Amino acid sequence: MESKRASIIRESLDALAEDATFLPDLKDKEREKAFKSLVSLLSTPNHVHKSFLRVPLEDQQVIRIPAYRVQHNDIMGPYKGGIRFHESVNEDETINLAALMTLKNALHEVPFGGGKGGVEIDPKDFSPKELNLICKKYVQNFSSTLGTEKDIPAPDMGTGEREMDWMMAEYKTIHPGKTYRGSFTGKSIMNGGSLGRREATGKGVYFTFRYMIHDFIKENKQWFNKIDNRFAKTALSYYDQQLEIAVQGFGNVGSVASLEAYHCDHLRNKVVAVSDRNVVLYNSEGLDIPSLIEFKNKHEEDLPTSKHELSEAGIKADVLNRDDILSLDVDVLILAALEDQIHEGNMADIKADILVEGANAPITEEADEYLADKGVVIVPDILANAGGVIVSYLEWMQGRETQFYDEDQIYKLLFDKMKSTVETIYPQFFGDPFPLRQNCYIHSVMKLSTVLYRQGKLY
Ligand code: GLU
Repeated sequence: MESKRASIIRESLDALAEDATFLPDLKDKEREKAFKSLVSLLSTPNHVHKSFLRVPLEDQQVIRIPAYRVQHNDIMGPYKGGIRFHESVNEDETINLAALMTLKNALHEVPFGGGKGGVEIDPKDFSPKELNLICKKYVQNFSSTLGTEKDIPAPDMGTGEREMDWMMAEYKTIHPGKTYRGSFTGKSIMNGGSLGRREATGKGVYFTFRYMIHDFIKENKQWFNKIDNRFAKTALSYYDQQLEIAVQGFGNVGSVASLEAYHCDHLRNKVVAVSDRNVVLYNSEGLDIPSLIEFKNKHEEDLPTSKHELSEAGIKADVLNRDDILSLDVDVLILAALEDQIHEGNMADIKADILVEGANAPITEEADEYLADKGVVIVPDILANAGGVIVSYLEWMQGRETQFYDEDQIYKLLFDKMKSTVETIYPQFFGDPFPLRQNCYIHSVMKLSTVLYRQGKLY
């Protein structure tokens, strides 16, 4: 069966084939063949590397762990994308996520292709020493495919700066004398990482939402009032209103996005609910996000789960069941947990009018279609969560130049980049009947197709 990404890529190419102003030199039969070639080039990965890591555990047992590196497309630059440590990692998912990286980088004009890696483990089951060994083995097994100008991994779910530091160190050991700072991004600051990288995805997610619901409307109010588009009407109805926000997931993306919302003075915002793998915390007056972050930092990343823990931390909230987050009666739902969270089974329960994808692929294909048909505005992953890879690119550049930017410079570059993408996408989106995801895909696919054509790859 065709995957969700592959089918949207094909639909985007079908739409572009109809548009005679796009690649006008291609006509008739030649055009038909070129677009068929583009479908097959963009909907399949260039390489799928799989390896079983041999890992001796501290209790003397030796285990084999499935690990992947998928290189989807490098027409725009070296493959780029995170390495995920999670028990649900598998080949198909890694291929899908690598394709998303190709589209994400093309959309934001980050000069990288798309890749993704994964190791099928729950990192909580391993000691730091074992995790260090898993990281080293990963680099050893995929060493010939990785590199500063070839394929540059970064953190993803279950990995962070500690793992990237270990991996870069192993890369340096295996390739003595080669440049190594740009071989991995998302490293610690002391080890050549960039200021702002850790916060970048969450900040970018909130920025995109804020820009959409406030700044863009403010600048284009007259135009908005004139157009007859249901998505534009939804966005406009929230302009300058008190907004209630719920955030699914309180990890690196969800907690930073919540904090941005809490401190935001552009919008009248209240984060009324946040959730993690254990609970939902709800307060209709708005949650004290800084105190929740302080609590989670002290308690192995978990939110308070009982009245007792909440009162100890001085936080006022009701404790609900974990999955209640999706059906709350809020205006905005930021999805910053795992993929496939909204699906056929729960899509009818969604009450929010605006969904923002902080995680990659949190909405299944069926649910996506159903919600878009209902007029829900879905800000897709490739648009909203690119902050991480944008700052990864800045880290990669700083590593090459061995010159480092301060935090303000990083955030300015990050927001300028996201703003410029949004400014190209939104006028089109609010002006035509397609959902935002489709607009973003068409945009990415257009750029990728143009370069593939220019580089003579369609013969
Ligand atoms: N894993 C992140 C993502 O899905 C970041 C990738 C990167 O920085 O290369 O976008």
